Amino acid sequence: MNVTVLSGGVGGARFLRGLLAVVDADNVAIVGNVADDIEVLGLHVSPDLDSILYALAGLADEERGWGRADETWNALASAAAFGGESWFRLGDRDIGLHLVRAQALREGATLSEATARLVRAAGLGCRLLPASDDPIRTFVETPAGTFPFQTWFVARGHRDEVDAVHYAGAPEARAARGVLAALDESDLVVIAPSNPYVSIGPILAVDEIRLALEQRRVPCIAVSPLVGGRAVKGPADRMLARLAGGTTPAHVASCYRGLIDALVIDEADAPAELQGGVRAVVTRTLMRDEHARRRLAHVVLDAAGTHA
Ligand code: GDP
Ligand code: CA
Repeated sequence: MNVTVLSGGVGGARFLRGLLAVVDADNVAIVGNVADDIEVLGLHVSPDLDSILYALAGLADEERGWGRADETWNALASAAAFGGESWFRLGDRDIGLHLVRAQALREGATLSEATARLVRAAGLGCRLLPASDDPIRTFVETPAGTFPFQTWFVARGHRDEVDAVHYAGAPEARAARGVLAALDESDLVVIAPSNPYVSIGPILAVDEIRLALEQRRVPCIAVSPLVGGRAVKGPADRMLARLAGGTTPAHVASCYRGLIDALVIDEADAPAELQGGVRAVVTRTLMRDEHARRRLAHVVLDAAGTHA
């Protein structure tokens, strides 16, 4: 069974660890968000692709929730001492990856080629595909002004309420090489429990990808990132409340109108009445350990079976 997963960073990565524990890596393609990519100290950083890579390679810092385990911060401290920017935190080990990617990009590789090399070097068997090789960047409109995603998220600690989200570059962006083929060869498409607005939204803003999902002949199943109407981490619940009008499963499903056949929700959010023939699949969705991650992956695969 070939599975393609649309994914943001940390929430998506948690789900992917479970999926890859129960499905052969050869059969898994991941389409990752690139709209929170940022240039820091001359290095192209792809936070969501890197979160996935680190999680799947067993390198992630699970306590901090982002970046690499056993991290040190000497390079950034030195950069700051020389007057460099240091608000976007990059650890020493993390910088090693960014150096390799920066060189590849400077030598003419596309982001997808550079990512494929990193994935191979990390010993991963799955495909990790940026949604696009063209630049897409998220901007958020807030009462305090419009900010690039990382300025709002990191520098301002995502404390401003969000009135609107824009994906600059998305209208012109093509799907990266391999993305449409992966979707075409899939028996199942999964939308990971990622932030619908700032992780999945920018992927779906690529016309070719949205169209492929609208015209799918296989099931597409989303997993809700909310448990009991609350985000496990981050601003997804506040964004849903303000932008969709609430945090019920119906509000989550409204972000994926016409694109999904089922929404996997937590027991704490059941029962749910969903529009457009979307089925609610109720289970425990908190992925607190290996067992919980595998269980959730199995539930999603079983739900696909009943939709095939
Ligand atoms: P980011 O790009 O690193 O912010 O990560 P994502 O967008 O992929 O994931 C963020 C979302 O993951 C948040 O909205 C969380 O609520 C959700 N999330 C994190 N852990 C879990 C979990 O164990 N279960 C579920 N259902 N959602 C989770
Ligand atoms: Ca992200």
